Amino acid sequence: MIQRLCIIGTGLIGGSLARDLKRLGAVGEVVGSSRKVANLERALALGVIDDFDPDPAAAARKADMIVIAVPLGAIASVFERLCAGGGIDERAVITDVGSAKACVMEAAASTLSPDQSARFVPAHPIAGTEHSGVESSIEGLFERRRVILTPMERTSCEAQSRVRWMWERVGAEVIEMDLHRHDEVLALTSHLPHLLAYTLVDALGRHPDHAELFRYCAGGFYDFTRIASSDPQMWHDICLANKDAVVDALNLFRGDLDGLIDAVRQGRGETIRSVFARAKSIRDRHAESVSGQAPPSHPSQDASPSFEYASDRNAS
Ligand code: NAP
Repeated sequence: MIQRLCIIGTGLIGGSLARDLKRLGAVGEVVGSSRKVANLERALALGVIDDFDPDPAAAARKADMIVIAVPLGAIASVFERLCAGGGIDERAVITDVGSAKACVMEAAASTLSPDQSARFVPAHPIAGTEHSGVESSIEGLFERRRVILTPMERTSCEAQSRVRWMWERVGAEVIEMDLHRHDEVLALTSHLPHLLAYTLVDALGRHPDHAELFRYCAGGFYDFTRIASSDPQMWHDICLANKDAVVDALNLFRGDLDGLIDAVRQGRGETIRSVFARAKSIRDRHAESVSGQAPPSHPSQDASPSFEYASDRNAS
């Protein structure tokens, strides 16, 4: 059981985690922290947190578990404020939920003491939606989803097992991965699809006939581009935080796209058919293994859950 949980960044992910730990009786008290008091008051009114302090160090004081759930661009400053304000209790385990891990490790390494580093367990839940903020937080978001831990050599076994326990308690399957491998894999399975969705919608939106074009966009278009409704700032941060792997993923895709352009231009029907048939078979196989695993959507927003990074089970 967690006695006092501090969630820095009580938005979609932090709020959903807090909701489940409270619902399951796995936590005594939840203290939230973020920049805007109005957001913290909303989280309090929704019962997601029990108390708050906009100062992360003050919120984290006496917590035995500190979860940093802010956008990647804010992680370094949160670590700095936590350390400068003496917010990390000598027994506290620290973890995060960031979508890229090398940048988080760099921020942690430059601020945490060796003792604190041993209690820091980088983590990434492979679950989310295209919505943001505590109002979009939902129960059951992590059920049957994967959470990837990317521990360092110095990360203590005890800290790892406490973070593992927390995620398993909310129904997730916890796995471990090397952090660089994590960033390469997620660039392909999550970051690339988000960039493609944003780029497609933007290209059509800037077309001279965009008003007419959007009148003829049907379900397929909106299925494909749902994730382009995700928070632009969050994806800006992810894109730059995982720059090298994202560029490699875009180049890989560009190579295949160039091949398809040539095949269409030259009327090579057999090539086109075999690409499509291969893709259908791969997608059908992987999609089947995740059907029926979707967590509940937010009642007021019909937030269909994103297989954001699609677990390797979804492999999307
Ligand atoms: P979100 O709903 O926008 O929540 C972010 C929270 O962080 C808000 O409460 C925000 O509140 C707070 N915040 C922002 N800047 C801050 C700062 N400088 N100091 C303190 N608090 C700050 O975003 P989210 O979707 O939960 O994403 C949070 C993290 O989870 C990101 O690192 C993301 O990469 C990762 N993640 C997201 C998903 C997904 O699908 N959304 C999935 C897995 C992992 P204020 O505006 O009041 O500060």
